[in-house]
Amino acid sequence: MIEKVQIADIDTASENGPRTLKIRTKKNIIETPCRMITSTETKFRKDLALSPLDKRFEIETPLFERVYTPKLKTIQDFKRVNGALDRVKNSINRSLRGFDEGISFLNLRFKKDGEPPLDDIESLIHLQCSTKLDLVSIPDLNELSNKKDYEIYVRKHRKYVENISNKEAAPIVDMNNTEDVFRNKIDTIIENGFKLAVLRCRSFNYYYANYKYLRDTKKEEEIWFHMVDTLRDHPYTPLNYTNLPQIFGIDTVSPRTPYGGGEVKATIPEDTKRFDRLSFDNLPLKEQRRRYDGSLGCTCLVCQDRTVSEYIEEYEICENKKERNPVYKWSRIHEIFATNSEFQIGRKFIQSQEFDTYIRSKISARSFLDNLTSRFF
Ligand SMILES: [Zn+2]
Repeated sequence: MIEKVQIADIDTASENGPRTLKIRTKKNIIETPCRMITSTETKFRKDLALSPLDKRFEIETPLFERVYTPKLKTIQDFKRVNGALDRVKNSINRSLRGFDEGISFLNLRFKKDGEPPLDDIESLIHLQCSTKLDLVSIPDLNELSNKKDYEIYVRKHRKYVENISNKEAAPIVDMNNTEDVFRNKIDTIIENGFKLAVLRCRSFNYYYANYKYLRDTKKEEEIWFHMVDTLRDHPYTPLNYTNLPQIFGIDTVSPRTPYGGGEVKATIPEDTKRFDRLSFDNLPLKEQRRRYDGSLGCTCLVCQDRTVSEYIEEYEICENKKERNPVYKWSRIHEIFATNSEFQIGRKFIQSQEFDTYIRSKISARSFLDNLTSRFF
């Protein structure tokens, strides 16, 4: 499925770890850094995009992510209840419609108290093999803290995938592992020749040691690092993480969907937060208006040089009467376009060895980096 992962450029002038990869798969060529489109985001488009807007807001993507948070009981039902596996399989396949050209992946995650026992993992691997997904994720488990156990686990499941499908196995590693366990897991994945490692995003500040390990030691490895669940709404910082993992040499990202399916609370439009290209913050519209004198600072298809007021006026009305919060959903579509464009711009700076100049031109990204430097060096 993934035929070749090749490092195209590394910005050696940068104190950080940005690089660009060329990933050749059976279906396409993926140039990094870039982002995936998630199933929640495609749902937003369906909720809002009424014809004739439909075509205009279609986004071509080489990568697609479906989020799946199974209950323990559902996983056990795969083996003991007729039709249980097929129901989930069909639901996954339905969400992949229209993404045949891209590479698709299941962001398999568990709630805090819902980690399944080791014996049930095979059911989840089997489920993915029986769908149209291109990649098969091997979940991370807390109990796998020993290097040897972890190696046996990932090898066993990769073999299972290879025996019954032509898909690619992709182990997930949570950034919240302790330092030594994290290092062992990443090293095991590389030593065993996996072409892709999936990382689950956690706070850059709190788990800095793990991020630093990737940045300082894995920059020249020909393996694709994808990060799921990149954070957008933090309790303590306005930073939107989408375009920042590349600082640590992470090649592709997919933004976080809240647990429980991404239900959005109705809020007044001025309080709606959106990705701000000038700072890399997730900024409420009223703060955007205050900071930039009413301007949105974005020329994407959704914004097109509208003022904050024009933006709200246009998007708070939605033909779908059931839609409670259209400004929020339009803002997330803006986020897809805007973060995508920033990745494309950033790529050119990596190629010309000027990534630090680029990233430091974003006000909040700059203070984030300065803060890291003063704390850890
Ligand atoms: Zn925009």
